[in-house]
Amino acid sequence: MEIKENISLRDLTTLKVGGEARYFCLVKNVKDLSQAREFAESKKLSILILGGGSNILIPDEGFFGLVIKIDFKGIEFVDKDESVRVISGAGENWDSLVEATIQKGFSGLENLSGIPGTVGATPVQNVGAYGVEVKNVINWVETFNLDNGEVKKFYNQDCQFGYRDSFFKTEDGKNLVITKVSYLLERNYQPKLAYKDLAVYFSDSKDPSLGEVRKAVLKIRADKFPDLKKVGTAGSFFKNPIVSQDKFNKLRKKYPDIPGFPVASSDFSSINHKLPTIKLSLAWILDKICGLKGKRDGQVGLFENQPLVLVNFGNATTDEVKGFSNSVKEKVFAQTGIKIDEEVRVI
Ligand SMILES: Cc1cc2nc3c(=O)[nH]c(=O)nc-3n(C[C@H](O)[C@H](O)[C@H](O)COP(=O)(O)OP(=O)(O)OC[C@H]3O[C@@H](n4cnc5c(N)ncnc54)[C@H](O)[C@@H]3O)c2cc1C
Repeated sequence: MEIKENISLRDLTTLKVGGEARYFCLVKNVKDLSQAREFAESKKLSILILGGGSNILIPDEGFFGLVIKIDFKGIEFVDKDESVRVISGAGENWDSLVEATIQKGFSGLENLSGIPGTVGATPVQNVGAYGVEVKNVINWVETFNLDNGEVKKFYNQDCQFGYRDSFFKTEDGKNLVITKVSYLLERNYQPKLAYKDLAVYFSDSKDPSLGEVRKAVLKIRADKFPDLKKVGTAGSFFKNPIVSQDKFNKLRKKYPDIPGFPVASSDFSSINHKLPTIKLSLAWILDKICGLKGKRDGQVGLFENQPLVLVNFGNATTDEVKGFSNSVKEKVFAQTGIKIDEEVRVI
């Protein structure tokens, strides 16, 4: 395994901003990871794990430590009665895995088609789209501990999955590198079309096939997200806020049309479980309350088709992205009293 120096991270992220990694390596197996860990330890470097770079904001000054890019490969299908287990290396491209499972006729991942990035990052923020979260199908996650080199499996119930959240984002979990993920998929396919965009798409056709659902999701996504080949983006830059029922009632008095969705307390790992919780549509707030849909300031703006999506239109810097993001946060707070958080990992 080769350790490189001064590697541009801008080109390894989809937002296309940020400086260089002082040290950089590509790891393909646990032996590589152990070597990378020893190297970092010997030089007292901090470590940053990188997958496909589609959910991360790198500082303009770069990362003065070791960036480890995960390249564990291999996909295995294991029969299990009615279900099938799909075990994938963390460095596999997520959407290629989704496509492979659909081609084999296994259901569970089809609504998650088209999400950029790697398999290993999917448990980290419990990726979700079109009414499905990856926690619904994760069986176990294999990890390598950067503190002591231990390899350990975390079963679904130990991952503390929440809305764009998991144990792997916590203080105790952040030293774990995900090396493999096992998903439990079904042979008996039941389409999940309750999400509004899919319900509308399939209003005239009942029982679409797995392939048809994937096609629909990819089509809907193509209209919602900018083309990664043309601009820089990390998809939804902010999380949808979650507020108490009381706060929601107050907002509804002022904005009677504000949408809110009750969320089960089991969907949270990091907030007070006793609070009644309503998930708000930040896209709606940004558009209808703050008037920020399509708002642009220099090289940074909010995408006109989906205001949650922050776009780098050209050669924006990370400081410009942060400045713009802060101005959005301040406006939302001034109008609604809600503090919003980034979905993107800000380094
Ligand atoms: C156009 C676009 C659309 C998107 N749509 C969605 C969507 O619909 N739903 C959704 O949930 N997300 C969406 N995303 C966000 C992103 O694609 C996902 O979060 C994805 O899982 C990130 O994968 P990655 O490999 O690029 O992770 P990276 O950006 O490389 O890393 C993200 C975080 O995970 C950590 N990490 C990565 N790999 C590992 C590993 N193997 N072990 C431990 N930690 C690791 C990193 O340290 C970092 O903290 C979208 C992004 C874009 C650009």
